[in-house]
Amino acid sequence: MSLLSFKGGIHPPHEKKYTEKKAVVKAVDPKVVTISMRQHIGAPCNPIVKKGDYVKVGQMVGEATSFVSSPVHSSVSGTVKEVTNKNVLGGKAMCVVIESDGENLIHETVVSNGDISGLSSKEILEIIKNAGIVGMGGAGFPTHVKLSPPPEKKIDVVILNGAECEPYLTADHRLMLETPAEVVYGLRALIKVLNVQKGYIGIENNKPDAFKSISEAAKEYPEIEVVELYTKYPQGAEKQLIYACTKREVPSAGLPMDAGAVVSNVATSAAIANAIKTGMPLVERICTITGSSVVEPKNMLIKVGTNIKEIIDQCGGYKGKVGKLIMGGPMMGLASNTDNIPSTKTTSGILIFNEDEAKIPEAENCLKCGKCVSICPSFLEPLYISAYALKNDFEKAEKYNALDCIECGSCSFVCPSKRPLLHSIRVAKKEIIAKRRKSK
Ligand code: SF4
Ligand code: SF4
Repeated sequence: MSLLSFKGGIHPPHEKKYTEKKAVVKAVDPKVVTISMRQHIGAPCNPIVKKGDYVKVGQMVGEATSFVSSPVHSSVSGTVKEVTNKNVLGGKAMCVVIESDGENLIHETVVSNGDISGLSSKEILEIIKNAGIVGMGGAGFPTHVKLSPPPEKKIDVVILNGAECEPYLTADHRLMLETPAEVVYGLRALIKVLNVQKGYIGIENNKPDAFKSISEAAKEYPEIEVVELYTKYPQGAEKQLIYACTKREVPSAGLPMDAGAVVSNVATSAAIANAIKTGMPLVERICTITGSSVVEPKNMLIKVGTNIKEIIDQCGGYKGKVGKLIMGGPMMGLASNTDNIPSTKTTSGILIFNEDEAKIPEAENCLKCGKCVSICPSFLEPLYISAYALKNDFEKAEKYNALDCIECGSCSFVCPSKRPLLHSIRVAKKEIIAKRRKSK
């Protein structure tokens, strides 16, 4: 079968060899967890517990405050020590700090919901919403919102992203190898919620073992097609994945639903399966801890709210001089200036680079070589958007469709002059969105 792909894209070194063959190990239970009320796109949660309260695993500790929001739950049993603003990735957020009693007592609300076959679409959607399921591939978009398109948008396909195209990360790879039935079960739930006839699971061809295990788990379900994708970055981006699987293009400024598709991540799918089968909300996830400056790279199952430094210590700690700490992959992850922050539902990777790798090269003048244009998967002209952004001319940047940028970083990667393309385009996007909000 020919490999499916998209137009544009790049081939950064995979760097997955450090962890791709390492089975997932359960992290040591943390003594304290810090549950951030901001773990998703949309409105932050409102804490519903107070200092001194006793909570159990799976108990809701933060309620959603709007439709585009998602509840958060305790990952341990123990006593609430504080409800206060703490450092989290990207700034400060209200957090519920819980001291574990080490018992891991399960909350009474956590009971099996039975099987998909005995549940209506509406009931499955409600389970997903109450379990705090969000996109676990990085963005953290509340899944129940994706599954509630307006009536005029006809969805006929669900696509699971098993590409894991970010270099270094292997969490999804191990998930597909070790619990393929859960991934497939979650997709069947999504198919039922959206009442569609077709589901795809896209896996890059640098993971043939995962392709085999998922294909085996899906073989009884004719509505599911497991497709092999050409290994290219950003193959796992929504629009690129939709094109690879269906040859449909999402229009400029459009969403996947404009192409009749909903895209979810394989980890999200497995979390949905768990929420249905056991009733347990999203309180833990697999994370890849890797890079040149960690002693023993690993894939670990970590409880949401675990301190990042504690996780790194369980990998033997830092090696040499650390230059950069990134939450997520090297292309789309976010750098953090501290390891004293809690993990969240979207902590797919903890990447630790040494000083040399972290050096930011001096930017030179644009050579007008056109490389950034030829690889941009969104068919943009990054050199012009960036040039206008650097001159604070955001109107022009908008005219060059800055908002269609998916922030994949491919342009910065290929630029021979090391121009700050992604950074400047991100600034432009923020300014354009802020201006639009003001004018509403
Ligand atoms: S302009 Fe945006 S979408 Fe295009 S390559 Fe650069 S970061 Fe990716
Ligand atoms: S890749 Fe860099 S040097 Fe080449 S056109 Fe784009 S911004 Fe200019």
